[in-house]
Amino acid sequence: MRIAEIHIYQKDLPVADGPYTMARAEVWALDTTIVRIVSDTGLTGWGETCPVGPTYQPEHALGARAALCQMAPGLIGASALAPLLVRRLMDGLLNGHNYAKAAIDIAIHDLIGKHYGVRVCDLLGGAERELVPSYYATGIKSPDDTAKLAKEKMKEGYPRLQIKLGGRPVEEDIETIRKVFDSTGGQLSIAADGNRGWTSRDALRFSRECPDIPFVMEQPCNTIDEIVAIRGQLHHAVYLDENADSLNAVLRAISLGVCDGFGLKVTRMGGLGPMATIRDICAARSMPHTCDDSWGGDIIAAACVHIGATVEPRLLEGVWLAAPYISGHYDSVNGVSIDGGHIKVPQGPGLGLTPDDGVFGDPVSSFG
Ligand SMILES: [Mg+2]
Repeated sequence: MRIAEIHIYQKDLPVADGPYTMARAEVWALDTTIVRIVSDTGLTGWGETCPVGPTYQPEHALGARAALCQMAPGLIGASALAPLLVRRLMDGLLNGHNYAKAAIDIAIHDLIGKHYGVRVCDLLGGAERELVPSYYATGIKSPDDTAKLAKEKMKEGYPRLQIKLGGRPVEEDIETIRKVFDSTGGQLSIAADGNRGWTSRDALRFSRECPDIPFVMEQPCNTIDEIVAIRGQLHHAVYLDENADSLNAVLRAISLGVCDGFGLKVTRMGGLGPMATIRDICAARSMPHTCDDSWGGDIIAAACVHIGATVEPRLLEGVWLAAPYISGHYDSVNGVSIDGGHIKVPQGPGLGLTPDDGVFGDPVSSFG
């Protein structure tokens, strides 16, 4: 089975009740990029990549499409049954741009699953469970509003909350996390996500004033070096998210001992193949982590759930989906959604999705 055609689509995903806010970004609508690969046997594989705006990370939507157009002509005719070779081929066509390569990698995994009649989670080693835990990310809100939302989400069945903080006086962040802890009675796992928004001074104060609250601090400061500088003085476990932007960065963070876990993004790492490698490295060092993406619709959601299902349960911190913040699905029958704070692993071959006819409109670029 070989790659015969590659089609690239663009779609806007408006944020329901927007904007979605983080310490260094505010987004009203997300610009997602869809890849459809058609094989010479007539099968279709779907991929997606959707940076959460242009300031969350260096990745951005126009860059994703430019990178895909740069690589696509060189991928026509390549074996669609050899994801590792496709990855190396992409690396020979373009340096970096993992997030664009991820869309191709996901589509190839979808194709291989359909070719053999197996699910992507089975291709990746096998599903530990059919229902994976999710977690809810609050966005930055007032202390009282965040605490109210946290309680609602706990009642819905979420086992974990990620509280967005940073970008405002740290006193307000401290008040927020206290009220969240009080409103949920300490029954939930909590990540305090600074999204690179704290100075090391504020991160130290946040931790020192809340030694009795068992949260993890996710990406408190902008760089690994800042976190290294304060790590020994913190009362809380530290997870890296934005700084865990490649396999090499994950290895460096583990070897430096700078963190206790990760927020991992499938597209940032280059797709499902690299994520499986990082999953195994994290298992070797007992590092808990999430399996998320920055944003996107059903395709990226399915990819995150499939890899999440393969993670050793004690190490999976949850699969985050954009689904609660956007309306509608690409696949009106098998669309991926969260129910009771958990997500069912899709059942069909490949990713288990069949996007509705015409849902992406005409391609913006086609090759092959
Ligand atoms: Mg994060």
